[in-house]
Amino acid sequence: MSARTLRCPTCDSVNVVKNGKIHNGKQNHKCTDCGRQFVKDPQQKRIGVDTKRLIDKLLLEKIPLAGIARVVDVSEVWLQGYVNAK
Ligand SMILES: [Zn+2]
Repeated sequence: MSARTLRCPTCDSVNVVKNGKIHNGKQNHKCTDCGRQFVKDPQQKRIGVDTKRLIDKLLLEKIPLAGIARVVDVSEVWLQGYVNAK
């Protein structure tokens, strides 16, 4: 079994089928066991070194996290975690 096998986030079943696309074009999936619909890793995204450098600069300017998240297009949750880790 490969690591790429999709699993249901609710019941961990591998009986997952494609279920069309959601509004932003991402592939939607549906678990045939529990009926849960989900999009794989909707927030998963690589944050590059350049982006982090930019974030560091913006943080120095005392710009609110929500504003930075919008400007550099990262999630506020990720940004909060990034700031906390610093
Ligand atoms: Zn399930």
